[in-house]
Amino acid sequence: MARIYKDGDADLSVIRGKVVAVLGYGIQGRAWALNMRDSGVKVIVGVRPGKSFDLARQEGFEVYPVGDAVRRADIIAVLLPDMVQPSVWGSEIAPGLRRGMTVVFAHGFNIRFGLIRPPSDVDVVLIAPKAPGKAVRDEFVRGWGVPALVAVHQDFTGSALKTALAIAKANGFTRVGVIETTFAEETETDLIGEQNVLVGGLLQLLRYGFEVMVELGYQPEVAYFEAINEAKLIMDLIWERGLTGMLLGVSETARYGGLTVGPYVINEDVKRRMKEAAEKVRSGEFAKEWIAEYQRGAPRLRELLEQVSNSQVERVGEFLRQLMRSK
Ligand code: NDP
Ligand code: MG
Ligand code: MG
Repeated sequence: MARIYKDGDADLSVIRGKVVAVLGYGIQGRAWALNMRDSGVKVIVGVRPGKSFDLARQEGFEVYPVGDAVRRADIIAVLLPDMVQPSVWGSEIAPGLRRGMTVVFAHGFNIRFGLIRPPSDVDVVLIAPKAPGKAVRDEFVRGWGVPALVAVHQDFTGSALKTALAIAKANGFTRVGVIETTFAEETETDLIGEQNVLVGGLLQLLRYGFEVMVELGYQPEVAYFEAINEAKLIMDLIWERGLTGMLLGVSETARYGGLTVGPYVINEDVKRRMKEAAEKVRSGEFAKEWIAEYQRGAPRLRELLEQVSNSQVERVGEFLRQLMRSK
């Protein structure tokens, strides 16, 4: 069983009197900054001048350029976009680091693939919330939280895990549970999961499901409901009741057809390809490809995104969503 930390395992006093600099005031940064301030932690924000700089100031934070925030902090939470982190690290973060500081990441990508190499005299930890930033804040306000993962990459002070758990507690994560992991496990499973299932596999499954019906001559509007729109209802059932609960929540015909045809369509060959894709994550091949693409200005990403947004399924979906929204 995984090791899980709860509120009782974390001590906020470990970070009392310390200054936590949240670097980046975006999806995660804003949620963390607000949560930790509400927990009584001294939080400052480090970000470049611009929209989020202004927002953080409006919301009552002391806001500094990244380098200045690092120099004023004991703990930094690096909540900048992953692909931006290496260059900001080199130019603004690393020069301000002092012996014994704690560096917190919310995703292990740059450490796992060696794009950021912290000096040996700081603690380096990971607290990865398993939810979007909006939920990180909303659940905290509701008196609850979202689950998270915790890992220690480098323990210079001997209390890296205690500091990490205190930061997790200040965000409400230990109210739910914080699972111990490693930077490698968090990074690899995050990428494998989003590629094979959440973003990649699911998207392609929905697209093919829609296209098959349309190519057979069914009306696109009807195909959209059957192949895409209702997927939410099925996911909600799985989320609430698990796989068996979902199966028991659909008709007997759907249950039989699903259990017999599902493995025929998504077969062992698909599983083999999933493993191949996972191997590319584990070997670093995917990271290398994506970094090169990003450094070229991401032309392929833009093109692929455009293909999706210009496809028939999107036009039909937009029309139907409009229809369902209007009263
Ligand atoms: P965002 O894209 O929302 O963060 C952008 C923030 O970084 C903005 O405040 C932006 O400022 C600032 N920024 C961008 N470039 C620079 C720069 N060169 N110098 C200074 N500030 C800059 O990031 P996320 O919150 O999505 O991700 C942060 C971390 O959290 C990542 O490691 C990610 O993997 C992790 N994470 C994210 C999740 C999510 O729900 N999004 C879930 C779990 C983990 P400006 O407004 O000026 O652009
Ligand atoms: Mg993820
Ligand atoms: Mg991810």
